[in-house]
Amino acid sequence: MTRVLVVEDDPQLVRALVINLQARQYGVDTAPDGTTALRLAATRQPDVVMLDLGLPDMDGVDVIRALRGWTRVPILVLSARQASDEKVAALDAGADDYITKPFSMDELLARLRAAVRRTEDAPLVPEASLVETDEFTVDLLAKKVVRSGRDVRLTPTEWHLLEILITNPGRLISQRYLLQEVWGVSNNKTNYLRVYMAQLRRKLEKDPSHPRYLITEPGMGYRYEG
Ligand code: CA
Repeated sequence: MTRVLVVEDDPQLVRALVINLQARQYGVDTAPDGTTALRLAATRQPDVVMLDLGLPDMDGVDVIRALRGWTRVPILVLSARQASDEKVAALDAGADDYITKPFSMDELLARLRAAVRRTEDAPLVPEASLVETDEFTVDLLAKKVVRSGRDVRLTPTEWHLLEILITNPGRLISQRYLLQEVWGVSNNKTNYLRVYMAQLRRKLEKDPSHPRYLITEPGMGYRYEG
């Protein structure tokens, strides 16, 4: 089964895409924003990404750049933007193809098939999924962390938290987003975050009280600095 990650914040369009893709036997995951898209790209290993450029939390071009930091998955950009410099920026950042809204479902599906076919024709190169720092290495596909040559044991909750931060390098991820994604709660549980971030720092940082990688933005959230 070919897996598609649909990154789009317009619920009606998402619904139409999901119905049409599933009817043609594609496996579909959906993300309403860039942060979620980056995490799902790492965890669900889609065969192709369909990406809207106008997302609520970040520019689609930045999503492309972040993906290209570690994956060669084909990216088909969907956008209402007519300006050709936007298309150039998306293609320069590493998008494979571009389709302007409104589009016909038939054309979209043809472009999707072409994007998938190109990767099937390409020689098999092992996909890089490693995020390396001076202190530790994270393998996003194997879900492993190695530090000083040894596996670091993370709980599922620690891993989930780390994965969200590390697939969004340099970006502030809000407390609200992390609580919702990791614990399914909306607020008032920032103590969970403090506890788990402290554990992660103990496992990953050279000096946990002066973190170099897992940065707190007081009152707002957390940020991974690569
Ligand atoms: Ca949009």
